[in-house]
Amino acid sequence: EERSSLLEEKNELIEERNVEIQQKAEALELSTRYKSEFLANMSHELRTPLNSILLLSRLMAENEAMDPEHQEYAGVIQSSGQGLLSLIDEILDLSKIEAGKMELDRANIKIDEVIQNMRSLFNPVAKEKNLNFVVEKSVETPEIFNTDKMRLEQIIKNLLSNAIKFTTEGSVTLNIDKNEKLNALIFKVTDTGLGIAPEKQGMVFEAFQQADGSTRRKFGGTGLGLSISRELAKLLGGYIDLKSKEGKGSIFTLTLPVDKNKGFDGVVDPWEK
Ligand code: ADP
Repeated sequence: EERSSLLEEKNELIEERNVEIQQKAEALELSTRYKSEFLANMSHELRTPLNSILLLSRLMAENEAMDPEHQEYAGVIQSSGQGLLSLIDEILDLSKIEAGKMELDRANIKIDEVIQNMRSLFNPVAKEKNLNFVVEKSVETPEIFNTDKMRLEQIIKNLLSNAIKFTTEGSVTLNIDKNEKLNALIFKVTDTGLGIAPEKQGMVFEAFQQADGSTRRKFGGTGLGLSISRELAKLLGGYIDLKSKEGKGSIFTLTLPVDKNKGFDGVVDPWEK
């Protein structure tokens, strides 16, 4: 008799705690949503005035009638503004993803177009830094791939710009290949740069995290690129992996399923081939 009433009391307590936990989870979800909505609105409001700053500073920077010193100042305003715009775009992307509002625009795209775009985008910077920049695909790579082209290119651009940014000599390669076993396309970005210490490798995918605090000043950047890339990869049905050795270089691989509905065939291990 006494035992069963004790048990009942305990059950009631557990039930109460469960309700509390549930309420807390709901409150947390709500505040996460408010935060994301706030960020999305803020980002939008910031873009409008920034666009005028960018346009007018560009006109001034290009105005030959102005004295050279002031033209140069206008150039600095323009490039700082450009940096701010990228930051705003990145925050907007991240908050959209967090709020579950990032929508994909899937289509059958030509892999060769992606290759061409990456070449024309990164050849100049690589040349400037005297790096050997190669984009190649295997014969197994299909011509057509169903994905969101803009988002796929956004991920690859992030990986390539990091690879070039953190490499002072040697090469940066984008290699595209099909993994038959997984039924996956693999986009592999390899560099011979700084590399990332083992204990930092997990954290570089976190928002605002950089492997070395002191490189922020040296290399710029926001620490948002990889966290956005990782989330986008997830949205596209895949994931990003990192292998790196300090002082030797890094390999970032983006693995995406060829068939978005079926996903990967079997166990996913991009390093086994
Ligand atoms: P950002 O490049 O704007 O700092 P990311 O999220 O793209 O932000 O990268 C986070 C950090 O990861 C970088 O600051 C850098 O410390 C490290 N990192 C990323 N890619 C590389 C790479 N290819 N080689 C060395 N370090 C890298």
